[in-house]
Amino acid sequence: MDLKKIMAELEAKNPAQPLYLQAAKEVLETIADFVNEHPKYDKYAIVERILEPERIVKFKVTWVDDKGQIQVNRGYRVQHNMAIGPYKGGLRFHKSVTEDTMKFLAFEQTFKNSLTTLPMGGGKGGSDFDPTGKSDGEVMRFCQSFMTELQKYIGPETDVPAGDIGVGGREIGFMYGQYKRLRGEHVGVLTGKGLEWGGSLIRPEATGFGAVYFLEGMLAEKKDQLKGKRVTLSGFGNVAWGAALKLEELGAKVVAISGPDGYILDEDGITGEKIAYMDELNQTRNNVVAPFAQKYPSAKFFPGKKVWEAKADIAIPCAIQNELDEQDAKLLIQNGVKYVVETSNMGCTAEAVTALQKAKVAFAPGKAANAGGVATSGLEMSQNSMKLAWSREEVDEKLNAIMNSIHANCVKYGKEKDGYINYVKGANIAGFIKVAEAMIAQGIAY
Ligand code: GLU
Repeated sequence: MDLKKIMAELEAKNPAQPLYLQAAKEVLETIADFVNEHPKYDKYAIVERILEPERIVKFKVTWVDDKGQIQVNRGYRVQHNMAIGPYKGGLRFHKSVTEDTMKFLAFEQTFKNSLTTLPMGGGKGGSDFDPTGKSDGEVMRFCQSFMTELQKYIGPETDVPAGDIGVGGREIGFMYGQYKRLRGEHVGVLTGKGLEWGGSLIRPEATGFGAVYFLEGMLAEKKDQLKGKRVTLSGFGNVAWGAALKLEELGAKVVAISGPDGYILDEDGITGEKIAYMDELNQTRNNVVAPFAQKYPSAKFFPGKKVWEAKADIAIPCAIQNELDEQDAKLLIQNGVKYVVETSNMGCTAEAVTALQKAKVAFAPGKAANAGGVATSGLEMSQNSMKLAWSREEVDEKLNAIMNSIHANCVKYGKEKDGYINYVKGANIAGFIKVAEAMIAQGIAY
């Protein structure tokens, strides 16, 4: 493959889509040598084909707010690649959502889902609807309107959405109820459902748990251990919450968390009821972490500052794309951070990743480290198909096994001559192979 030519064409075809171009470039740069060693991928134009989403649905979502005013938002579903299974991926409700955001996330999801070992293709959707400060009634009316259109394009064997930023149990419930009303069927069309109506145990914690299981693999690779390590997390959503729970259980010390308004440093450690409070804050959807310091005297709030300035051994970004830039990466290196587990999707800029890798910091990319969420969604789909529910232990054991397998695959394809593991390269190659082989086997279908 001619990397320069492909990138130039991609840039010309996707103007003003910097996120998509960033995600594509990162993958192309790391798989180029591998693709060139296997001429069949060029023969079948796999790279060119994988870069083009199979379908993009963009629609209007009209709803009425509490003041009786009519609001208009945009809804999206990018059905990126169905080679290995039904489209699968979350829905994001956030003011920053554009077609570019959706495209980059769906592209990433295809590789991530391939890594999980489960039969799931890649998709992503969402809206520029901002849940901050909205009432339950407003969120319900929005979700119902959103699903009224989306239901035309999804189904348990075609496309199975789930949560992401701004979409949790409440939103999944409202959307599921509307799907059921319109279609008259109770099927596994969404994941992240409530336990009483087809959801899976561990799904809310899964992304965070999975990231920590992946981190355990990274530590073991360096004959290191988690116990006693200082950890900084960004974000206080589902993902950071799940990670904090597992980190505490395994003896690490979370000293800092953050929100869009600044960060919280708590030298006593963020444990027990403080972790429960993280979830409580998240449920308010006010998008501020500051109240944490009012509630806990040991916690200090640093308004407007990024959490990466706190001393730590391990940093786990769990917020949003490009939250950690080159300057932050340099700060982490300076502060002695040895492991960075990117748990947000494309949480680090390309320059940040390069800086970390140059300094030989162990760096896990989001598509590997955060795959536990969608993997557990895959397990929810299996349980829905079988019409039964597994125990907590069963789900957790399967999640752990999946994360170990992803880690092993990253090592297999990412180990460099000097022993450093390029997890980005490993994840991209391993994710690519499965999708590429399926596409070749299925003829020139997409
Ligand atoms: N939004 C999550 C992700 O980025 C989960 C998707 C899912 O469960 O389908 O992978």
